Amino acid sequence: MDLKNLYTRLPSVDRLLSHDRLSRLLGRHGNAALAEAVRQTLEQARRTIREQHALPPWAASDDSLAAAVGDRVAERQRMRMRPVFNLSGTVLHTNLGRAPMAETAVDAVTAAMREAATLEFDLQGAGRGHRDQAVSELLRELTGAEAACVVNNNAAAVLIMLSTVAAGREVILSRGEMVEIGGAFRMPDVMRQAGCRLVEVGATNRTHLKDYRNAITAETGLLLKVHTSNYAIQGFASSVAEAELAELARERGLPVATDLGSGALIDLAAHGLPHEPMPQQMIAAGVDLVSFSGDKLLGGPQAGLIIGKREWIDKIQQHPLKRALRCDKMTLAALEATLRLYLEPDRLPETLPTLRLLTRPQTTMRASAERLRAPLAAALGTDYLVEDAACLSQIGSGSLPVDRLPSWALAVSPADGRGGTLERLAEALRALPRPVIGRLADGRLWLDLRCLEDETGFIDNLGSLARP
Ligand SMILES: *Cc1c(COP(=O)(O)O)cnc(C)c1O
Repeated sequence: MDLKNLYTRLPSVDRLLSHDRLSRLLGRHGNAALAEAVRQTLEQARRTIREQHALPPWAASDDSLAAAVGDRVAERQRMRMRPVFNLSGTVLHTNLGRAPMAETAVDAVTAAMREAATLEFDLQGAGRGHRDQAVSELLRELTGAEAACVVNNNAAAVLIMLSTVAAGREVILSRGEMVEIGGAFRMPDVMRQAGCRLVEVGATNRTHLKDYRNAITAETGLLLKVHTSNYAIQGFASSVAEAELAELARERGLPVATDLGSGALIDLAAHGLPHEPMPQQMIAAGVDLVSFSGDKLLGGPQAGLIIGKREWIDKIQQHPLKRALRCDKMTLAALEATLRLYLEPDRLPETLPTLRLLTRPQTTMRASAERLRAPLAAALGTDYLVEDAACLSQIGSGSLPVDRLPSWALAVSPADGRGGTLERLAEALRALPRPVIGRLADGRLWLDLRCLEDETGFIDNLGSLARP
């Protein structure tokens, strides 16, 4: 059939708009939105005709076109941000929202959202309170710091610490700690933004105390340590411990700050995980200010936590940037509820999802893989081969970059000569009502089961799989 004839088989906008099925949607979506959806659907049909020289089946009748328009307006209402199954093997996946939140945090956030709350209201004094108060008291109790405050994230924490303590002055930092965290967050750039002058000392692999000592001048405002979260310098390497640096700083009457990145409030080694520096150790070592993230190993919401000497925290609270970087009530509610879990540390492996997922033994994931292999194979059909295999999970978010946790995965590969491809498979899994996010490696799609706690939900979800 020639193209012109195909185009004339499509209805006009007005005819399609008056279709019964769409008239019924008018009240809900309004005429403008519905007309736009009709126009877009017809345009898509014309494009398909142009490209494939055929009328697509969904455009073959007014009924099926009206159904396509209905799907389009429904899609417009659907949340773009939606829950997924994170089977990527990275527990704290920045692109997937990092730490999953504890149930008590979820409840606290919901309550704070729905009703008026004591965000900046002191019930005892019946007057104005400070929004960081509750979290600050918990952080003091948990870390032994004199004071604490909270900002939007750890990047903000570093920026406001530098701006408050050392704007217009020199900040001494080891060349081995000239970190780029990702995106535009690079130490030298943050320094410039904060109005500080960076003084690099030492070499990439080795920095000594005397390097810091020799670099101190009348212009020095701060000695800074940055935890090398997302890389490791191995071999002939050395750096200066916080305690030593704090002693030098004290002799010279200078402050010392450390950006810990993740910062674990509990000893991870006691849970069979690799050791990560703890904020309370830094306070004990005499560091003036310590910053760390709320949504990395802490297992809470996105936030930047700063703990340390009262004198400095008070100055940070008064800095104009604090208002710009402060947290909202939802974040503060989630953070307070998360920190409260740390008051009962023995229960953390159950109550804190991040720790629960990180400490799941390999045998648990293996047993899960054995249960899920057959249902997944059945859903995928004969074009794909589903095996289960050992794999290694990562902690993620730049925490403990070298360490890997033994885990177990469903590993899917295209069956020989049947035409399945890994790209189509990954796409079909992403198109599920609850998208499944895996990892492509070595010619297979790996579904690491470490973060899968809801097996029934996973199997139900597969029921909607369009054969890839
Ligand atoms: C992750 C990290 C940051 C940034 O923290 P966010 O909470 O993501 O803003 C800064 N410094 C270090 C060392 C980090 O590891």
